[in-house]
Amino acid sequence: MKNLANKTALVTGGSRGIGAAIAKRLAREGANVAITYQASAEKATALVKEIEQLGVKSIAIQADSADPLAVKKAVDQTARELGGLDILVNNAGIAAYKDVSEMTIEDFDLITAVNIRAVFAGSHAALPYLKKGGRIINIGSCQAERMPTPGGTLYAMSKSALIGLTKGMARDLGKKGITVNAVHPGPIDTDMNPANGPHADFQRSLMALSAFGTADDIAGLVSYLAGPESGYVTGAGFVIDGGTNI
Ligand code: NDP
Repeated sequence: MKNLANKTALVTGGSRGIGAAIAKRLAREGANVAITYQASAEKATALVKEIEQLGVKSIAIQADSADPLAVKKAVDQTARELGGLDILVNNAGIAAYKDVSEMTIEDFDLITAVNIRAVFAGSHAALPYLKKGGRIINIGSCQAERMPTPGGTLYAMSKSALIGLTKGMARDLGKKGITVNAVHPGPIDTDMNPANGPHADFQRSLMALSAFGTADDIAGLVSYLAGPESGYVTGAGFVIDGGTNI
C-alpha cells in the first residue's frame, strides 16, 4: 500500500514551482491533493489533470493567500470535496528584494500577509479537520537563518517568523498527535529563483554543492514529513540548501 493512501493533502501555491512538485509527489504516494493558486489558472488546471492520471482525486482552488478568508474557504472546500484533510502544506510565498530604505509599509503588509498570516490562517482553519497523524508542513527559507545578500529584510523576517510559528503550533498540537514542521529550502530552480537568473552565480558561490536544487528535492523531504515514518518529528526545521548556510 502507498504511504499516503486514503489521505487528503492541501498544498497552497501549488500551480508552479516547489508547490506543484510537492502536489505531484504526494499524489504519487497515494494522497488526494488540492492545490491553491493566485493567478495561474491554466497551469493549475493542467496539474490537476496530470495528478488525476495517477488515480487520485484532485482539485484546484483560486485563493489569494493575502486574504485569510479565501484561505479558510480553500481549506473548507478541500475537506468538503476530497473527504477531509490530513496534510496541509503551507507553501505559497512571495519574495521581493530591495534596499530597506526603499521598502514601504505596503511591502511589509503584503509579504507578512502572504508569507506569515496565511500560514496561520490555513493552519487554524485546518484544525477542525486534522486528526491524530495529521501533518502541517510550512515552507520557509534558508534565509530565515542566514542572510548573505542585501535587500532581503522583509523576506528573511517573514521566513524566520515561521520558525516560531512552527514550534508554537507543534507544542499545542502534539497532544492531539499532529506534527508541525518547517522545511527551509535554499536556491531552488523555479520562476521565483531561476538557476540562470542574474543572482544565480552569487548563490552558487555560497553553496557546498555549487548547484541549484530542484523542486523535486524539496518534494522528497516534504513527502517524508507527510508520511508515517516521520511520526516522531515535530517542531523541527529542515534546511535543504546544497550547503548554502554551513
Ligand atoms: P514560485 O514563484 O515559482 O511559485 C509560487 C507559487 O505560489 C505559485 O504557485 C503561485 O501561484 C503561488 N502564489 C504566489 N502568491 C500567491 C498568493 N498570494 N496566493 C496564492 N498563491 C500564491 O515560487 P517557488 O516555487 O520558488 O517557492 C515556493 C515556496 O518556497 C515559497 O514559500 C518560497 O518563499 C519558498 N522558497 C523558494 C526558494 C527558491 O529558491 N525557489 C528558496 C527558499 C524558499 P500563481 O501561479 O497563481 O501565481
